[in-house]
Amino acid sequence: MNIIVCVKQVPDTSQMKFDPETKTIVRENVENIVNPFDLYAVEEALRIKEKFPESKITAICMGPKQAENALREVISMGADSAVLISDKSFAASDTLATSYILSEAIKKTGQYDIILFGKMAIDGDTAQVGPGVASLLDIPQITFVRKIEEITNEKIIAERALETGYETLEVQLPCVLTCIKELNEPRLPSLRGKMKAKKEEIPVLNAEALSIDLSRCGFKGSPTWVVKAFSPVMTKENMIFKSEDQRENVDNLVSKLKEKAVI
Ligand SMILES: Cc1cc2nc3c(=O)[nH]c(=O)nc-3n(C[C@H](O)[C@H](O)[C@H](O)COP(=O)(O)OP(=O)(O)OC[C@H]3O[C@@H](n4cnc5c(N)ncnc54)[C@H](O)[C@@H]3O)c2cc1C
Repeated sequence: MNIIVCVKQVPDTSQMKFDPETKTIVRENVENIVNPFDLYAVEEALRIKEKFPESKITAICMGPKQAENALREVISMGADSAVLISDKSFAASDTLATSYILSEAIKKTGQYDIILFGKMAIDGDTAQVGPGVASLLDIPQITFVRKIEEITNEKIIAERALETGYETLEVQLPCVLTCIKELNEPRLPSLRGKMKAKKEEIPVLNAEALSIDLSRCGFKGSPTWVVKAFSPVMTKENMIFKSEDQRENVDNLVSKLKEKAVI
């Protein structure tokens, strides 16, 4: 089976800031990590490969040169190879443009059976790219997958999480799956994996290599407009009762709650 895993390098959200002028995320001088949800997708790809040992896992990331580090991390977990999709004209792409570029990159890899995504990226937070790619490739998808019940060379039966419960779906391959946290526990990189990741040659494909239609990427190809972006202001007041005497803490808490008319 040919398994593709799409991983995004994201800024560590605990350090994230917005530029109110450009209405974009400030990515400079912020530590970058592999989007945490994508690690569940990588782990699931590795588990599928354990069932179908002839499988090949290819990780794909669209991003600047530094996003290569995210791909090396995924190789250290066990992915067979990785491709970085990078071109100046891809900057400022919204989810539609990103989905278009990724789908063209996936087509370029040749045959694909399962394409795995995280449920969403922790910086963009839209959860649109997986479904976007499925729709552009015109293949079925199961989003928010929490359990794979059955998998054969022809089909997958998987359980997905809904707001109100669970739903079991069967789709034919090739298909897209987007993965949530309940699906598995991502493994740590092995020493062998780390050594492979260090040496691995990661090809970089640009717009020309992918024969990308430039009018469909970057600002030009992005119909989404960010109207406003800001860091939320903390309006809640924190209060810690620190007395050694727990009764005193409880009394203070009760009187504060009364003062605020909560009780
Ligand atoms: C006007 C505008 C300008 C923007 N400019 C930039 C910019 O300059 N640089 C920038 O980085 N972002 C930019 N963005 C954000 C960009 O749209 C999103 O980060 C990106 O399209 C993915 O959407 P998301 O983060 O919501 O991913 P989601 O849809 O939440 O991601 C779901 C899954 O898709 C996969 N995925 C998502 N993105 C990638 C990727 N790049 N490579 C591989 N897999 C991926 C991952 O598996 C991820 O878990 C811009 C957005 C807008 C609206």
